[in-house]
Amino acid sequence: MNMTGKKIGIIERYQNFLPPVDPTCIISLNEGNTPLILAEALPKYLGLSGVKIYYKFEGLNPTGSFKDRGMTMAVSKAVEQKATSVICASTGNTSASAAAYASRCGLRCFVLIPEGKIAKGKLLQAYRYGAKVMMVKGNFDQALQLVKEVASAENIVLVNSVNPYRIEGQKTAAFEVVDDLGDAPDYHALPVGNAGNITAYWKGYTEYKKHGKSWMLPKMIGIQAAGAAPLVIGKPVENPETEATAIRIGNPASWKGAIAARDESGGLIDSVTDEEIRFAYRFIAEREGVFAEPASAAAVAGVMKLAKTGYFKEGSRVVITLTGSGLKDPDYALNFQDELTVVKIDARALSKIVSAKT
Ligand SMILES: *Cc1c(COP(=O)(O)O)cnc(C)c1O
Repeated sequence: MNMTGKKIGIIERYQNFLPPVDPTCIISLNEGNTPLILAEALPKYLGLSGVKIYYKFEGLNPTGSFKDRGMTMAVSKAVEQKATSVICASTGNTSASAAAYASRCGLRCFVLIPEGKIAKGKLLQAYRYGAKVMMVKGNFDQALQLVKEVASAENIVLVNSVNPYRIEGQKTAAFEVVDDLGDAPDYHALPVGNAGNITAYWKGYTEYKKHGKSWMLPKMIGIQAAGAAPLVIGKPVENPETEATAIRIGNPASWKGAIAARDESGGLIDSVTDEEIRFAYRFIAEREGVFAEPASAAAVAGVMKLAKTGYFKEGSRVVITLTGSGLKDPDYALNFQDELTVVKIDARALSKIVSAKT
């Protein structure tokens, strides 16, 4: 609780729906309570005037991604268990979040990132929050295997989404959607990498309904990148490839959870190309004023693709989770041949430019 007695952070707001945590062990950065933003341009562009689309903008969490919801739970539990260190394998956002929550309570944090692309914003967060950062000469799936082995041998708490408390914390995003809309939406779309989040949302929606908080359950729509779409093709991908590095995962840890979410909800898991992701990424930033990272844009691209097949029913509500902030990946953001016009310190020269018709 803060000074006004108002409940803050997801553990305090939703403690009745979460595993119990000793109140003295709660490590929070006031995560959650992110906005559900009504899309204006997207339904118009898709010709879906009778469909309401919302962005659940998780980029506004303390470290800029939804990972904070799971991390407050996982790190609080680690503190409760008197752990001294946490470890994770990460394509970026998990490491940023783990490092932040660990720093807040004096835990050591070890981060293993896969070889190759990792978004700069995420890497610099891990460093600045004081984590020990290591690069594995291998892909994400191999890095995860490695930290699993070492965590159990060294008694270090693993804070990847195989840690069950991560999923518990992440399910609170579904609670917030229901609290905001008054019921569950008809469809919920989100990007899928390791598949922890789609598992968590489905758990959240079904539990909330059981408690009488909603009438409906959404159809879950999981979107993968075409070069990293094991759940779409039905088998692991040896060398996953996509510019959306947060979902560049070939063998999702929560495979079963994702399939259950899809089948129990009557939804689907589909894939989009990097080109479709680029288009959606620009669209929501340039037309909606919402700047999310490439992996998040994959979910928007998925909704665009499905809308063109007439998938969404008139009068329905669609929620798209935008999982992380656009600021995370500056290299991707600056790779669009933007022009920088140099202007003289001369009011007439500037006037000429700003009054031009195009
Ligand atoms: C982690 C992450 C994902 C993928 O979530 P999973 O739970 O691994 O499926 C998608 N987008 C962003 C921005 C992420 O950080």
